[in-house]
Amino acid sequence: AIMPTLLSGIANGARQGILFKNGAQLEKIGKVRAIAFDKTGTLTTGQVQVFQVISVSEYTQLDVLKAAASVESYSEHPIGKAIVQAAGDLDWVGAVEVQAIPGQGILGIAQEQQVIVGNAIFVQKYVTNLPKELREIAQSLEQEGKTVVWVAKNPTPLFERGGEVMGVIAIADEVRSQAAATITRLKKLGVEQIVMLTGDNQETAHSVAKAVGIDRVYAQLLPEDKLDVIRRLQQEYQTVAMVGDGINDAPALAQASVGIAMGVSGSDVALETADIVLMADRLEKIAVAMHLGRRSQVIVK
Ligand code: ADP
Ligand code: MG
Repeated sequence: AIMPTLLSGIANGARQGILFKNGAQLEKIGKVRAIAFDKTGTLTTGQVQVFQVISVSEYTQLDVLKAAASVESYSEHPIGKAIVQAAGDLDWVGAVEVQAIPGQGILGIAQEQQVIVGNAIFVQKYVTNLPKELREIAQSLEQEGKTVVWVAKNPTPLFERGGEVMGVIAIADEVRSQAAATITRLKKLGVEQIVMLTGDNQETAHSVAKAVGIDRVYAQLLPEDKLDVIRRLQQEYQTVAMVGDGINDAPALAQASVGIAMGVSGSDVALETADIVLMADRLEKIAVAMHLGRRSQVIVK
């Protein structure tokens, strides 16, 4: 049977926009010693937009945008949606044989050429080189917190590294207004370790981490890498919470002692997997939930 105090804690949470799936989770969040945050869609709004398009060699900015849109039109990733929106009604043609690789990028065949869009490591597999001047521009954009995706074309898809870079697209995403205050609050509540987990690159991740006050960053992670970090944190801190929104966060949310999902930006899988849902994406409610959890423990004793 659920203790009356737990019940009132859950009701109290619901009133404040925190949905606890059961009473055990209310108690557990009071014992959390480490918290991992996803970046895109969790610490940031996830409402990404194309910020800048840069082309190289004979290509124009429009060529870059159109090529990217031809494959991204099949993508469910926020980056893909932002690119398609920016391409608007330019005359791009949808690609065929499109393949999305989670946490890396997407590729397909458009007008008999292979088009590759994704992070530097991914695109590098298909091209002879990433132009140095473009790498420098990409790095400075990343230091400002932008996510940079590379766009390349490979006329000989059977010869993997025969491609050529067309340009880069810088994507902007806003840090949530309550993010920094939430981190400060959690530190004050005595949470010993707060980390960021992201599939995005080091530079962008560190820039966002700095803006919100997180010192420890794990970047360029695949979904299973996020789960591994949670496991390692559990060895050190036992009770570990994970906060996320994406399909790529689901394994980590399931592994965490307490999985917390963003109610609005959260994907269905994240919402189903999580133990606690933050209605209206109110990050600052995590501190409230911890407080309710601690109080329920005191009263139960
Ligand atoms: P996060 O953990 O920040 O939510 P993801 O794991 O979804 O990020 O993606 C990690 C990185 O992989 C992105 O920052 C981007 O560089 C690249 N990527 C993934 N999907 C796509 C896509 N559809 N188009 C372009 N790049 C992509
Ligand atoms: Mg995310």
